[in-house]
Amino acid sequence: MNVIIVGAGIAGLSTAWALVKAGHSVSVIEQGRIPNPLAASGDHHRIIRRAYGRAGGYARLITEAYQAWDEMWGDLGESHLDPRGFLGVSREEGDEAEIYREGLEAGSFPFDLFQPDEAVARWPFLEPGTFRYAYFSTEGGALHCRRIAAGLLEWLRAHGANIYENSKAVGIDPDAGRVTLADGAVMQADRVVVAAGAWVLKLFPELGSELKTWRTALAYVEPPADLRAAWETAPVILDVGGKTDGYMIPLTRGAGMKFGSGLHKVPTSDADWNRDPVEGEGEAIRNLFSPPIARIEEYRITEVVTCAYTFTDDEKFLAHEAGRCLIVSACSGHGYKFGAAVGRRVAAALADGDIVGLKRWLRAEVA
Ligand SMILES: Cc1cc2nc3c(=O)[nH]c(=O)nc-3n(C[C@H](O)[C@H](O)[C@H](O)COP(=O)(O)OP(=O)(O)OC[C@H]3O[C@@H](n4cnc5c(N)ncnc54)[C@H](O)[C@@H]3O)c2cc1C
Repeated sequence: MNVIIVGAGIAGLSTAWALVKAGHSVSVIEQGRIPNPLAASGDHHRIIRRAYGRAGGYARLITEAYQAWDEMWGDLGESHLDPRGFLGVSREEGDEAEIYREGLEAGSFPFDLFQPDEAVARWPFLEPGTFRYAYFSTEGGALHCRRIAAGLLEWLRAHGANIYENSKAVGIDPDAGRVTLADGAVMQADRVVVAAGAWVLKLFPELGSELKTWRTALAYVEPPADLRAAWETAPVILDVGGKTDGYMIPLTRGAGMKFGSGLHKVPTSDADWNRDPVEGEGEAIRNLFSPPIARIEEYRITEVVTCAYTFTDDEKFLAHEAGRCLIVSACSGHGYKFGAAVGRRVAAALADGDIVGLKRWLRAEVA
């Protein structure tokens, strides 16, 4: 089978990897370079964690996610997962951190609970008296996205895939399996996989009834010098509790430390809108983390990275089939951790034709 893949984020690159392994002929088209720093997968790192609160189906799928990454590390010759575990910090009854903890309990997934004084002794960047409890699980860590993309790019080239960087698809004829590029070139294949992330609505505006686009940003920081050692060994922080909807990735493998919050996002109709950070944006994001992070103003902003992503109403992933074209989106702000697994599942569905099964898997309706 000849397959064109539009988009070289983690979904497109992983699908290419799995298809090439299955003996298919693959061409990947990417509008920027690989990795594209504007893509959701183009940031330094993303969190993998078992905790999924009430969305227990995705918690169970984490086992497959880890298996797929392990297969990928085997092919790439090195692991790009820093498996440092994750921490949740609950500040209010019923907050997101508590819901994640309850999800771990419901799934019988192990974790260690810490009273505030024990937690502050172990993680001195936490502010005493600002939280109810913390919990730690070993089933999580940081996936180093840029290294994964670079590794996959090298692997794909070495295994015969055609890679077209700085090549933008401007039109797709799903029935013919034909893709037109910005320079006027036309490509045709048996199947076309569209993994265009937040840009998918430019190619398929009809998906606008299901996918809503948001613009967000992440703040990279340098922690206070005396807390640096603590941050070098800290777990990723899945949720800082309260209403912050905040997560943090500590210093890991030379990539910067960052803060991100679900509160800091605005709707947009265009994935390219407002991609330059605004004055003071990094400080605004950082300050959302106090409490429970102590001495917040001593965290110096080093970089602000903007991102665009799409969400479905129920925050589940989706696939759509149109003629020879399969549109895939592991979206809603939690899809990176499943990247390798998504690639394997999409490749398998193209081969056996079970798109219904793929959709159910993407919705975490099968374990
Ligand atoms: C701020 C933020 C934090 C997140 N945190 C986490 C996390 O901690 N853990 C987690 O699991 N997930 C997280 N996610 C979600 C995760 O990043 C995404 O689910 C995942 O990266 C999506 O990958 P993708 O390949 O579908 O899309 P993208 O990474 O956006 O890739 C799409 C690619 O398609 C290319 N493209 C688009 N249109 C065209 C075209 N017409 N022609 C050619 N190329 C095109 C783009 O340039 C891009 O490279 C987060 C997302 C954001 C925004």
